[in-house]
Amino acid sequence: MALIVQKYGGTSVSDAERIRAVAQHVAQTRHNGHEVVVVVSAMGKFTDDLIVLAEQISPNNPDREMDMLLTAGERISMALVSMALSTVGVESASFTGSQAGIITDTTHRRAKILEMRPDRIREALDDGLVPVVAGFQGVSTERDITTLGRGGSDVTAVALAAALKADVCEIYTDVTGVFSADPRVAPKARQLTTVSFDEMMEIAATGGRVLMLRSVEFARRHNVPIHVRSSFTWEPGTWIVEEDPTMEEAIVSAITDDTSEAKITVAGVPDRPGVAATLFRELANNGINVDMIVQNTSLHNVTDISFTVAKIELEAAMTACQKVQQEIGAVTVTSDDQIGRVTIVGAGMKSSPGVTALMFETLYNNGINIEMISTSSIRISCVLHADKVGDAVRHLHSAFGLDAE
Ligand code: ASP
Ligand code: MG
Repeated sequence: MALIVQKYGGTSVSDAERIRAVAQHVAQTRHNGHEVVVVVSAMGKFTDDLIVLAEQISPNNPDREMDMLLTAGERISMALVSMALSTVGVESASFTGSQAGIITDTTHRRAKILEMRPDRIREALDDGLVPVVAGFQGVSTERDITTLGRGGSDVTAVALAAALKADVCEIYTDVTGVFSADPRVAPKARQLTTVSFDEMMEIAATGGRVLMLRSVEFARRHNVPIHVRSSFTWEPGTWIVEEDPTMEEAIVSAITDDTSEAKITVAGVPDRPGVAATLFRELANNGINVDMIVQNTSLHNVTDISFTVAKIELEAAMTACQKVQQEIGAVTVTSDDQIGRVTIVGAGMKSSPGVTALMFETLYNNGINIEMISTSSIRISCVLHADKVGDAVRHLHSAFGLDAE
């Protein structure tokens, strides 16, 4: 007998028929002798609809009330799933994040979990019930209702799995698993059987859309195996697990792409200590997240600094740069939102020379110019013109031998 946390995303509970299918699957899992805890997202695009509705009231609403509003979505699905379970003879009870003991900090709309006290969930399991928990929500140390950031139901599921020492956290979604590239971009992409936590972190951080990054961090920290699979086919999907040292690692496992960022270039700054500190302090003070950073080697003690930020933060970032432009002695501040980032990820690249060369040659042979480069021990990212992203993904996918037959 295993304890399984099953998380169902928005598409998996989008209407009454899908909810009935979920209940059937939970019943089947119980029938196979396992204990189940269910975590649900809001139905379909319900969270987006609530945000639109709030914007019709006012363009800037208090974050506390936004959280109160947005948590309503998961509350609807948890009650409906629990009702559907009772129609198939499975006894269950639904719980809000607060009732499930998910204690967060006080940062509304992107709260972090501080502590898990899932006593009521454990009691429900001991009573033979299937607890159905509302994803994406918790209660703060100030006793206010909070949300964990968009896509946060994944975090709820992994956190519950860790706290309950579950054997696996199954994430049900509308894709059949994690792919070697986005199949909409690269039609020859293959589904991966297993991915290590480290690889999945890089995939999620560089544009892979299957799992929220924070949930992968959490799973790695607590060593919770994740199984990403489809609630449309119910077939086995992709396992995300700790790296097995005896396993032969793929040199490159996946190619990701991301066109959500823009590039800012602060040009003609004097090459002296304190310039970067002043610039990035101003950006940090405005809550702007900076991703890739490149500083050129200086010529006659003058250099350029380029970096990327989310497109939605571009305006705020430009304002921050212009504010310190004089102070740091920059000649110009310019931006380009027609960029994209293509990344190759693979745990095996640590120990194989030539990966970087093959990536750059592949781009060069296809007439694609590289604007910025950044690396980690298991990832290489290149910033390109946005128009070239699709071609780059497809060519790299072939060059690294990932194409399906
Ligand atoms: N319903 C929330 C959202 O759309 C949380 C989730 O789906 O994970 O962001
Ligand atoms: Mg989601």
